[in-house]
Amino acid sequence: MLITPGADMRYFLGRSVASHERLTCLVVPADGAPHLLVPALERLGWAGSPVEALGLPITTWADGQDPYTELAELLPSDARVLSVDYHMPAVHALGARGAVPGSELTLAGETIAELRMRKGAAEIAALKSVGEAIDRVHARIGEWLRPGRTEHEVAADITAAIVAEGHERADFVIVGSGPNGASPHHEASDRPIRAGEPVVIDIGGPAPDGYFSDCTRTYLTGGADPDPEVREVYEVVRAAQAAGVAAAVAGATAESVDMASRTIIADAGYGDYFITRTGHGIGLEVHEHPYLVAGNTQVLEPGMAFSVEPGIYLPGRFGVRIEDIVVVTDDGPLLCNNAPTDLIVVG
Ligand code: ZN
Ligand code: ZN
Repeated sequence: MLITPGADMRYFLGRSVASHERLTCLVVPADGAPHLLVPALERLGWAGSPVEALGLPITTWADGQDPYTELAELLPSDARVLSVDYHMPAVHALGARGAVPGSELTLAGETIAELRMRKGAAEIAALKSVGEAIDRVHARIGEWLRPGRTEHEVAADITAAIVAEGHERADFVIVGSGPNGASPHHEASDRPIRAGEPVVIDIGGPAPDGYFSDCTRTYLTGGADPDPEVREVYEVVRAAQAAGVAAAVAGATAESVDMASRTIIADAGYGDYFITRTGHGIGLEVHEHPYLVAGNTQVLEPGMAFSVEPGIYLPGRFGVRIEDIVVVTDDGPLLCNNAPTDLIVVG
């Protein structure tokens, strides 16, 4: 298994570095001891890291050398299957394959997910802590969201608050007002927010320990009567989200959580407008296994953490989404977000 910088490396080593054209690679043979290959100029940067406490041997390669030849020398002589992490740059994956005659590439992601999906107590505590941090940002939305301001202006204030409330950085700040809310991954624009509009606010980022928050609330701006369908749609999404959370129990399947939310939206006549899966796993990445989607028969176990985020997206009109992070426990679903889900009118 070959792992380049990213969440997998951080998971295994307690440390990662920026990914770039110089090869850094954790080499994990099927049998035998793992090894870390790093550019010589970055060797000092690993001093004092958990890698040394692990006793992991570190080999360096220097500019002017071929890193893939160095990598091949760390592999067992009979290595033929190179299993690479999901996000390894193609330049490194193909470079490794080229240095090992007759080798083939496979994805290590599903194997690694078997570990990363099942969060330990410290990981769950990290998700709860960063969830509380993003809840504090949502509690302050009324300070910034009001008619007449642009989505960009509101997003800039939220971005600063995400850091002020304890994140390392803001990873995404979606402010989708009016018709922009009907595009689930709309970010922010120069559109001035109007009175009486629903505004989808989906925000998150990593804490300094690397674990992510991700929480959505849909707010309503005051000062004018909203589209008469807004409150009805909101309550459908709210009921669907609560049903999804309630379904997140050990022994259920990932797709059954999706179905619990989807059935409520379909029964209310909005099935065609729920255009996303219901949720995604979360941890050292904001999107990871398990995915809550039709066809995923993964059985949920204590320690699995994911979003439950159904929505209704009416093109040209508005969107509504409500999202919380949930951890499966022996005692039922544990919410990492506890911001109220009532429709809050601001401005
Ligand atoms: Zn989100
Ligand atoms: Zn999400």
